Amino acid sequence: MKTRLVNIFMVLGFILLLHASYASTEERTPTPRIDHECSRIAKKLSSVGYKECLNRNLQRSTSVSVNGAPILFKEYPPLKSREPMGRVLLIGGTHGDEYSSVSVVFKWLKMLDQFHSGLFHWHVFPLMNPDGLLKKKSSRTNANGVDLNRNFPTRDWKAKSEHYWIVRTNKNPRRYPGTHPLSEPESRWLYSEINDFKPDVIIAVHAPHGIVDFNHNGATDAPNKLGRLHLNLLGTYPGSLGNFAGIQRSIPVLTIELEYAGIMPSPREVNDIWIDMIRWLRQNLPVERPGEPVDLEEELRLAQGKEIKIDEIDEIENIF
Ligand SMILES: [Zn+2]
Repeated sequence: MKTRLVNIFMVLGFILLLHASYASTEERTPTPRIDHECSRIAKKLSSVGYKECLNRNLQRSTSVSVNGAPILFKEYPPLKSREPMGRVLLIGGTHGDEYSSVSVVFKWLKMLDQFHSGLFHWHVFPLMNPDGLLKKKSSRTNANGVDLNRNFPTRDWKAKSEHYWIVRTNKNPRRYPGTHPLSEPESRWLYSEINDFKPDVIIAVHAPHGIVDFNHNGATDAPNKLGRLHLNLLGTYPGSLGNFAGIQRSIPVLTIELEYAGIMPSPREVNDIWIDMIRWLRQNLPVERPGEPVDLEEELRLAQGKEIKIDEIDEIENIF
C-alpha cells in the first residue's frame, strides 16, 4: 500500500513538473493565439469582424513585431490543375494608422477564399505593422517609432536616409527611418519574405493619397487605373519598399493608395480595384526581370555604408 502511495505521488509530482515546465516555457516565449489577434483587430477596425477574421484561417508567420504580436499571413498555393502565372506578395497595414489598408486586404482575402483558382500563387499579409495599428492611438510607425517604409536596405540608405529625414521632412517623427536599415523586426521579416518567397510582383496597400503608384526597374507597364484610382508616379524615398524592391531588386512594386485612411471604399470599389488588379497581373506576369542575382551580404554592406572609400583604398595601398 505504502509503495502504491509513493508511486501515485511520484506520478502526480511528474505531472506537476511537466505542467510547471510547460507553463514556464509559455511565459518565456509568449505565443499569442490567432483568436486573440483577431479579437484585437476586430476591436480596432469596424470593417473587420472577429468571426470574419477567424474565418480567414490566418497562420502565424515565423516573425513577431517589436511587442511580440504575430505577423499573420495566408498562403494560396499553386493548385494541381494549373501552373500559376507568378508569385504575388500582397501586404496591408505597413502604416498602422491607415486602417482601410488593412480592412481592404481582409475583403480580398475573403474573395481569394471563395475564388482562388490557382491562377497566381499568393502570400497575403493583411497587417505588417500590428503594433502601430493595435495600440490605443494607432500610429504610422511601429512600436520603436520607425517608419517601416523607410527602413529597407536601399543602397542609398546610409548616405541619404538621415539627411532626407532631417532636411526634407524636418525631423517629422512619422517618417523616422530608424538607426540603420532593417533595424526593425517587421522590416527584417519582409526582407526575408522577399528573399524566400521570391515574389514576381509586390502589391502594397496604403492610404490616403487616392492614387496608384508603381516602381519597377524594368519593362513592365504600370496600370493606368485600378477602380477609381489613377496612376500618379510619386517617385521613391531612401529606404522605401518601392525603392528597395522595385528599383534595386527589379521586382515590380504596385502601391495602392486608397482615398481615405479611416473610411472604407464602397464594396463595389473594393471589387473594382480587385478586378482591375487581377487583369493587370494577367497581362504582365510573368515579369521579365533584368539584373544580376542578388548578393545579400553585398547589398546589406552597401546599405549600411560600409563600402571601402577611395581614401581608405589609398591607405591600404600605402601599407603595402
Ligand atoms: Zn502608408
